[in-house]
Amino acid sequence: MSSNSVGCTAVVVGAGIAGLAAAISLSRTGWHVTVLERSPELGEIGAGFAMSRNAVAAFCGLGFDSDDVAALGCATRAAGTWASDGRPILTIRDDPATREAVALIGVHRRRLHQALLRRARQVGAQIVPDSPVTTVVPGEPGGPRAMVAGREADLVVGADGMRSAMRGDLFEAGAVYSGFSSWRAITARTPAETTLRQYWGPRAEFGSMPVSETETYWYGYVAMPERTSIADELGAAERRFTGWAAPVRRILAGTEPEAVLRHDVYHLPGGLPRYTAGRVVMIGDAAHGFLPTMGQGVATALEDGLCVGLLIGAPVAAGGSLAPALAGFDQARRPRCRALGRASVLSARFGAHLGGGVRQSVRNALMRLTPASAVDRGADAAMSWTPPDPAAPVR
Ligand SMILES: Cc1cc2nc3c(=O)[nH]c(=O)nc-3n(C[C@H](O)[C@H](O)[C@H](O)COP(=O)(O)OP(=O)(O)OC[C@H]3O[C@@H](n4cnc5c(N)ncnc54)[C@H](O)[C@@H]3O)c2cc1C
Repeated sequence: MSSNSVGCTAVVVGAGIAGLAAAISLSRTGWHVTVLERSPELGEIGAGFAMSRNAVAAFCGLGFDSDDVAALGCATRAAGTWASDGRPILTIRDDPATREAVALIGVHRRRLHQALLRRARQVGAQIVPDSPVTTVVPGEPGGPRAMVAGREADLVVGADGMRSAMRGDLFEAGAVYSGFSSWRAITARTPAETTLRQYWGPRAEFGSMPVSETETYWYGYVAMPERTSIADELGAAERRFTGWAAPVRRILAGTEPEAVLRHDVYHLPGGLPRYTAGRVVMIGDAAHGFLPTMGQGVATALEDGLCVGLLIGAPVAAGGSLAPALAGFDQARRPRCRALGRASVLSARFGAHLGGGVRQSVRNALMRLTPASAVDRGADAAMSWTPPDPAAPVR
């Protein structure tokens, strides 16, 4: 392929977190970018998420500054884990030695999505709603261009989420049901809610965190058959968490019924065996959908999107070939995301997915013996990620 920034065109499939991040990152290196989004409306449903340090690093790598980060939500920190009856399992004190490792921004997903959408348009990406993609002709780096929805492209970015049609078409790999469904809501914040707190009970987890001066985000992740139909979601959540600690019941009691969302949770065990095919690169949940138990889905979607520009867009715009750039992306991203996927499964087994009875008391006793610093070190390994230097050789 003769590639230069004047002629490079990319089609991104999916205007979610990963797709918009990739669109921004590629546009900033001079590519012409079109984003095809299935939904007729460019609004993001969803509630909150905990934006960890690596997510902030990726967001800033897209050209946002500290004021933009502050505008997303509310600075907070992880405070630890409690048993469903309210007894502490692991308490993380507010201590200068661990402050950086557990610092988070509580964010309403809609604010992050709006910020990315605005920036994508500012840097020249064209966003086309109501454009579902079902198939792609991947082309060959150095050979025929890719073809998607009647458009030719030098690069196609598959960012169509957990139930990705692109993944099904190119890799015949599908996400599997986790056995769990998750309620999520934004509700009015009370003075008691200042940190991220999680509660573990038999095959269930409840978590809450402030996402602005006036709003709290909560989730209730519980074992449930796939596609369970519930008429009154808030009532069902209140029944499921009956007998749990007072803060859990208080938050549920203060929630408006229409604020409650519920989604069955899927994941892609092991992730894709490779993240590229022809001229296509797969990113975000489409490439490596995790269980939500490490809270790294949004973070890695931002990291992936930024890396599409840094590791593929920039070298190709500078006259390099596409094939080594795609290989470099795969080498840089796949081992990290596989490790995070494994960590999410382990964390689920030990936490939210653990059954009842003696297993709960043994797990809780073991956790109480674990120094918080050991847990901080584990989290730190995931969250100390910083954007790659595109000039440095990829190891
Ligand atoms: C209960 C729960 C809690 C979570 N908590 C956290 C957390 O605390 N922190 C965190 O970092 N992550 C969290 N996550 C994960 C996070 O929400 C996702 O991992 C993240 O949104 C992935 O981004 P994405 O862009 O890959 O996919 P998405 O955000 O799902 O975007 C995919 C986009 O593609 C579009 N699309 C789909 N199919 C097509 C098609 N065929 N053609 C065109 N467009 C298409 C969709 O409409 C959507 O706009 C959580 C997830 C769950 C379920």
